[in-house]
Amino acid sequence: MRNNKHFRPTKAIIDLNAIKHNVCQLKKHILPNVQIIAVVKANAYGHGDVEVAKAALDAGASMLAVATPEEALHIRTYFPTTEILVLGYSPVSFATCAAKENIILTVYSKEWVEQVKKHALDKPLKLHIKVDSGMNRIGVTNVEEFLALYESISTSEKLIVDGIFTHFATADEEDEYYFQNQVNRFEKFMQVVPKKPRIVHVANTATSLIKDPRLQYDAVRFGISMYGLAPSEFVKSNLPFPLKPAFSLVTELVAIKKIYPGESVGYGATFTVEEPTYIGTLPIGYADGLIRKYSGQDVLIDGQRVPIVGRICMDQCMIALPTEYNLGENVVLIGKQKNEEITIDEWAKKIDSINYEVPCIITSRVPRFYYKNE
Ligand SMILES: *Cc1c(COP(=O)(O)O)cnc(C)c1O
Repeated sequence: MRNNKHFRPTKAIIDLNAIKHNVCQLKKHILPNVQIIAVVKANAYGHGDVEVAKAALDAGASMLAVATPEEALHIRTYFPTTEILVLGYSPVSFATCAAKENIILTVYSKEWVEQVKKHALDKPLKLHIKVDSGMNRIGVTNVEEFLALYESISTSEKLIVDGIFTHFATADEEDEYYFQNQVNRFEKFMQVVPKKPRIVHVANTATSLIKDPRLQYDAVRFGISMYGLAPSEFVKSNLPFPLKPAFSLVTELVAIKKIYPGESVGYGATFTVEEPTYIGTLPIGYADGLIRKYSGQDVLIDGQRVPIVGRICMDQCMIALPTEYNLGENVVLIGKQKNEEITIDEWAKKIDSINYEVPCIITSRVPRFYYKNE
């Protein structure tokens, strides 16, 4: 683990062995010859894009996917030859740079392609056509549009139809009705495509784990479960292999005091004690991503659950302790301590959200430390 300029004890610890475990297990689960696209958008769901990408590639992923041009360029500086796909929108102004940097772009508009053709491209630009089969986010929605787009790309010498893909809205749910509709719609596009491109990919994590293996096509886009988290409760109870969570969040006790009945804690004095209580202070607050809605959430100290009390401040929060502890005592906000564990899923429930959101919103003020044993 690297530590040179970090002094505050609040840190996220990312277990790269867990990332590798999850990718290796997926590799065994999917059909042979199906590639793994490691989805490392949003700084690898808050885990750290470069380190996660390296671990995923070491474990058998062959391609990386991000959401934006900026994320792709960041990855490119560390991985000069790896295939990188931008899943989301890229402006026409990025095309020249993408071609130069060998970054693959998602395309869904013929007008976009016509605009790009007016730009001077020094190298060929690889494109993946996005089909909207029911997500209604981005993508071509009908076959005529699709064929016109395909034709516009394939008649240009500088543009390559490298892939075709779609994205499912309900792959993680038990009810298959909407999902099957999307599958059927996508297949209509595949029936008319003049020439099958290098890679067709439709499977997100949920699809790759619990659906018909034929939907793995040439590659699967492995996101949330690479980080050891299930896409939904339904997938969680139908996992083909156990996942290892990679993200923990730790800090230390930096202040402690005993307060007496009638005394309150924090802004607004919203938490008042009825008995003498030890109140501990942790150097983490909403500017770190511990948003105020987490008030009441347990943390671990000496393997015991204790609650965050009062309003969470920007940089600090307070916990109610059953007894006195020494300053510097280790506190785990997410992860294991002795026989107890607080999961990202528990945090997600606390704020009425999904596990995806939890590590994503831990801000860059919290340094990421990487754990791996060789
Ligand atoms: C984010 C994203 C994924 C990964 O989804 P998971 O549920 O994390 O596997 C796959 N495909 C697209 C298009 C995405 O935007």
